[in-house]
Order: sequence, then C-alpha cells, then structure tokens
Amino acid sequence: MKNILIIGAGLCGSLLALRLAQHGFQITLVEKRPDLRKTTLDAGRSINLALSDRGLRGLRLAGIEEAVRELLIPMTGRMIHEKSGNTFLSPYSGRKDEFINSVSRPGLNKLLLNEAEKMPNVTTVFNQTCKKVIFETPLATFEDSKTGAETTYSADVIFATDGAGSVVRANMIHDKSFLLNISHQWLGHGYKELEIPPSENGGYREYKNALHIWPRGEDMLIALPNLNGSFTVTLFLPYKNSDYCFESLTTREKVQEYFKNEFPDVLKLIPNLSEEFFKNPVGSMGTVKCDPWHRFGKVLLMGDAAHAMVPFYGQGMNASFEDVAVFDEILSRYKDDLMKGKENWQKIFYEYEEVRKKDADAICDLAVDNFDEMKAHTGMELFQKKRKLETAFEAEFPQDYYSKYSLVTFNETLPYSEAKRLGRAQDKAILGLLHEGELHDTLKLKEKLTLVKKRTEAILKQTDAPDYLKTT
Ligand SMILES: Cc1cc2nc3c(=O)[nH]c(=O)nc-3n(C[C@H](O)[C@H](O)[C@H](O)COP(=O)(O)OP(=O)(O)OC[C@H]3O[C@@H](n4cnc5c(N)ncnc54)[C@H](O)[C@@H]3O)c2cc1C
Repeated sequence: MKNILIIGAGLCGSLLALRLAQHGFQITLVEKRPDLRKTTLDAGRSINLALSDRGLRGLRLAGIEEAVRELLIPMTGRMIHEKSGNTFLSPYSGRKDEFINSVSRPGLNKLLLNEAEKMPNVTTVFNQTCKKVIFETPLATFEDSKTGAETTYSADVIFATDGAGSVVRANMIHDKSFLLNISHQWLGHGYKELEIPPSENGGYREYKNALHIWPRGEDMLIALPNLNGSFTVTLFLPYKNSDYCFESLTTREKVQEYFKNEFPDVLKLIPNLSEEFFKNPVGSMGTVKCDPWHRFGKVLLMGDAAHAMVPFYGQGMNASFEDVAVFDEILSRYKDDLMKGKENWQKIFYEYEEVRKKDADAICDLAVDNFDEMKAHTGMELFQKKRKLETAFEAEFPQDYYSKYSLVTFNETLPYSEAKRLGRAQDKAILGLLHEGELHDTLKLKEKLTLVKKRTEAILKQTDAPDYLKTT
C-alpha cells in the first residue's frame, strides 16, 4: 500500500481521505485545529454553507450522500427583502427538482471525519500545524499546538488541503527551485456573521426553505437556515470609503442606526445585534489562482489551497468536493499500474491539473460575477424580469433552457468553464433583449426563447472567434 499524507482535515481533506482509503491507500490525515467533534467551533467561520449538485457528486462517490442528506435543509430560491419590508421569492430554477441545500459546516465536517475514521487504513491526528514541506522527498514537519514539539512525517505523496491560506502553497512560493505562478485578489468587502435565533416555540422566524437576501447595492445581508430553527446571517460590507463600512461602524449607536436605515426588519430579529456585532470577527475574502498545483509528482494542492474563491456562488466547497471526484476518475484509470510500479503519481497529477485548472479558474471568475448579482442586481427591476423569464423558460421547456445559475449549480456533468462560457453569453443576450424592449408581451414564450437562443449564438460566435475576426 502507498502511504499518503493529507494536510488539513477540513471539508476537502476529510472527503479525500475517505475516498483514497476506499481505494486501499494508507492515509494519515493531519489537522492543525483540535478535533471539532470534541470542541466547539470558533466564531466567525461560515457556520453554514450551500451544498448543491457538484458537491453531492463527490459525496455520492464516497457512498455517503444519503447520510449527508439527513443534515440538509432545501432552499428553493432567493427570498429578496426590499427596504420597504416587501419580500418575494425568486426560485433558483423553473425545474422543481433543482434547489440548493443549507448544511452546517461543522456538522458536515464531523460526518466526513467519522466516515473516514471508520476505515482501518485512516489515521487522524489533530493539533498539529504544518510548518514546512520538503517537496523532493516528500517530508512535512508539524508543530504540536499544545507542546510546541515538532514531528516530521514522510509519505509517498502529500495532498495539501490546508485551505485558502495554505502553508504548503506558501512553501512552494518560497522554494526558489520552483516557479509558482500565483495571483491573490482581495475583495474590498469583509464579512461578519450574526444569528437570528429560533422563535420561542423553536420554529423559524423567517421562511425556512430559502436563502434570504437583503440587497442594498454595495452591501448586503444573507441568511441561511439551520436545523435548530435559527438562521446564520452574514453581513457583507466594504472595509472603508463608504457611509456605512466596517471602519465607520465603531459604536453601538452607529450599528443600530445602520440596521434601522438599511435592514429595519432584521433589527427586530437579532436581539443581541450590537453584542454580536462587536464580538464576532470580520472575515476577509479573496480569489487565489496558482499553477502548477503539484511538485515533483510528490505534492498536490487541492480544494481552497489550489483555488480559493469569494463565496458568492456558494461553490467553494462544492468545487472542492468536485476536485475529489475529478481526481478519482483519473486515479481509477491509472491505479492498477500505479500499484504495480508501472505508472507514477506525476502523470496523474499532470493530467488532473490539465483537466481541472480551467474549470477552477472559471468558477473563481463566476463567483466574482455573482457578488454584483447578489448585492445589487437582485434588487433591480431588469434583473427580476430576466429571472422571471428564465424561470418560465425552465418550467415550460425544461430540456431547452438552463440559466447560468442552473448551468453552474445543477449541471454536475457540465464543466464550470463551459457553464461560464454559455452562461455569460446567455445573460448578455437576455439582458440586452430586455433592455431593447425586444421581448414584448405580445410574443409567445417559445418565440421569446427563440430570440434569446439566436442572440446567445451570435454572442458565442463573436466571443469564440479569433481576435482578428472580432468586430467591435
Ligand atoms: C463566508 C463564507 C461562506 C461560504 N459559503 C459557501 C457555500 O455556501 N457553499 C460552498 O460550496 N462554499 C462556501 N464557502 C467556501 C468553502 O468554505 C470552502 O471552499 C471550503 O471550506 C474549502 O474546503 P477546504 O477543505 O479546501 O478548506 P477548509 O475547509 O478551509 O479546510 C482547511 C483545513 O486545513 C486546516 N489547516 C490549515 N492550515 C493548516 C496547517 N498549516 N496544518 C494543518 N492543517 C491546516 C484548517 O484548520 C482546516 O481544517 C464559503 C466560504 C466563506 C468564507
């Protein structure tokens, strides 16, 4: 059996450990934090997440989809909260079986760890922070968070699933024999988590089966339901240079005033608003793109360590689980030869990156697009018309039309890069036609769909054409 060291027992690392153990590899999974099954999670990390089809694909592969479903709360659409207090539900799709799910991060992580530990060939180690990786050998040195003692692990290969701030990736940057391309784009907005508690009788204070959004242009609140009747609320706000920003919200009065002006209905729902506001940390968000993801066929970055993205498409975890599925497909083809020593990891890592990199880049870009869509466009009339039309297309012609959201979120067999190419063209087409008044009410729905398809094709022709054939 080959020995595999996985650094980081978060969502990606735990699923990867389980899946590689199912293949028969000997796994050591090392995590810097305490075992989250024995302690409570630190405040300020996204407590719940939206899980959708691509993520479920990875869980299905490891045989745990059904177990995970017990933890899920379906969210069928976005519940938009206007400043006036008016609310309306904008479905994610016109197809009834297309919805996303709210899931607790610690709940899911615990389940993944439990499943991984059921395998006799998985060893988990907690409270060990990776400090240094020697790529050629490969070796990784960890520091015990309680004693400060150092331990060095050797393995046939190392998978780095140590998240957006990956230490392994940082080691790659500082290894001068290795030319790592890297870009890190921080967002000018931070986020802070708050909580709408359950009602007195333990029920939900807002509609349970939706992702709630309070879009306010430059800032927004979102809320996802938890199984205990509460909602985890996330405030996305600029750090500075705005009337209301993290830099200016420094007193209880200012915070109350901000919520009273922007989210008056929420003010009533969070009894401890000021307390929570000043207790909970401000998190930062950014996009990390890098390549190559692997070194000497010995160390491979996966999940957020390879491609961190802003959270606005709700795809970071889903993409990380999809990483495991894509890697698994390639590994399965080479495994027998790998075990016999006729094939090596380098080839598998190369092929994985070749297939996966463009899709990781695409979802990173789409996640940035969706920031504007959520915080501003969802509150605009033109955008709402577009969503209504798309939902009608999907309901009436379910085989013929998939919105960009649906392509990205519910079409697990379509690569992200294709979803980006087609989805962006379609958005441009439909918004253009609506803006020009071409989709007037006298047209039948089918006729509107034909116009959208024709315009989309024209845009794709233009986008895909070599530069010398592009018209301005
Ligand atoms: C506010 C917010 C909301 C989000 N919402 C969604 C959503 O709705 N849907 C979605 O799909 N995604 C969402 N995401 C993204 C999602 O959280 C990540 O994409 C996902 O957690 C990536 O999994 P990972 O295992 O790669 O990294 P992580 O989950 O970050 O796990 C990394 C693990 O490595 C450990 N570690 C770090 N450094 C070391 C070290 N030096 N040594 C040992 N261990 C180490 C960490 O403690 C952690 O356990 C959101 C992210 C944020 C910030």
